Amino acid sequence: MDRDHNEQNSKNVKSKPYKLLMFTCYGGCALGVAASKACIRLWEENPDDIKIGCLPAVIVPWKLKEIIRNSEKRILIDACAIRCGFKLAEKAGLTVNRYIELTSEMGMKKVKQIPSRELENEVYQLIKSEIEELFVN
Ligand code: SF4
Repeated sequence: MDRDHNEQNSKNVKSKPYKLLMFTCYGGCALGVAASKACIRLWEENPDDIKIGCLPAVIVPWKLKEIIRNSEKRILIDACAIRCGFKLAEKAGLTVNRYIELTSEMGMKKVKQIPSRELENEVYQLIKSEIEELFVN
């Protein structure tokens, strides 16, 4: 399928505006995996209001417009201080209502391993409370 066809198909699908789009760097480290799993769980728990946004897609101009048009608020989570998601968003012009860099926020080092259940839960609770805060403000 060619690019124009894919673009047209995507434009033909009527997207509803989400209360919140969540973007995460999907980093290959404990906090990155925990954040990815937390975002999936939060989407599963709130399918009508929340969705994971496609972070790499922000470099495609028409996708960026669609992302902004279809979301009331946006949160971006980076797992470590390299802040890849932040840099990509900044370069593409994606604005967010809340930004979290997890190693600083949680006072933890980047560890290149699968997260424990405890860490997954801690990251989930942190992102969940940030989202609840965004919903009331
Ligand atoms: S911010 Fe850190 S964890 Fe996330 S993609 Fe970049 S290097 Fe990996």
